[in-house]
Amino acid sequence: MRKKTKRNALVAVIVIIVLICGLFIANYYKSYKRIVYSKDALILKSYNGTSTSKNFIHNNESIPVLMYHSIPDASSGNIMEVSKGQFEEEMKYLKDNGYHTLSADEFYDFIVKDKPVLKKSVLITFDDGYENQYKNAYPVLKKYKFNAVMFIITDYLDKGTLYLKSNELKTMSDNGISIESHTTNHAKLDKLSYKDQFKTLRDSQNKLEGICNKAVRFIAYPYGYFNKDTVEASQKSGYIMAFTTSGKWANINKGVYAVNRIYIFPQFNLGDFKSRITNPNYPQLVHPIDMLKGAYKTFIK
Ligand SMILES: [Zn+2]
Repeated sequence: MRKKTKRNALVAVIVIIVLICGLFIANYYKSYKRIVYSKDALILKSYNGTSTSKNFIHNNESIPVLMYHSIPDASSGNIMEVSKGQFEEEMKYLKDNGYHTLSADEFYDFIVKDKPVLKKSVLITFDDGYENQYKNAYPVLKKYKFNAVMFIITDYLDKGTLYLKSNELKTMSDNGISIESHTTNHAKLDKLSYKDQFKTLRDSQNKLEGICNKAVRFIAYPYGYFNKDTVEASQKSGYIMAFTTSGKWANINKGVYAVNRIYIFPQFNLGDFKSRITNPNYPQLVHPIDMLKGAYKTFIK
């Protein structure tokens, strides 16, 4: 009799242990699912479509970083100028086709921390700080609630009618556009000494931080030119990521201080645009920097 009671007690203890373990595992799994869900939910906040984890990609895959320059009322044919109408058409295409426009931070977290992003993600960037980026591009970005990054040449701010005013910069920064550096004077960085590179990187950063009251942590090298000193000076100055102009899709392979971007030129039709955002190996007839060199001669002082 005593033996039977002892055995029953043992069975009861085992049952209780199994139950406790079961509850613990179930609870752990539940909270694990919650963590995974909330991680995705952060990214999904500004995304309207239906989504599952299979729509997400990791940083072993590339995404397109679009590079725009001037956005005038009408293009003159200069490759630096994408007309307001063409820009609007391209942004509408992104909207209508369910693209997610990353913020600078989301892009950084994707590349560096491997935080997954939606497969249909792009980063929109603008160079040089033309005033028409405020007058013509910004209203379109606002309309579609799109994120974008603007790389500013700080010596040109508040000068004449071609370039942005400080107050326009502040308005865009306050409304979610990331304002970042394109140096003080658009010099070819690889031709400067380390000291001069550091100066133009730091001075432009200080100026933009003074205007927008936000940290400036991204730099686009003028013409995409850089050398070892550029990377060192960028790091020393507090930049966490730098962009070039190679014309390829962006991934971690070239490092965080040489992130690729894709040119968007005025002679593209919507088919060319579509090819650049859907095909990482889209055909490039002329290396973009060769076209750009000629255009800059007539455009930038
Ligand atoms: Zn530039």
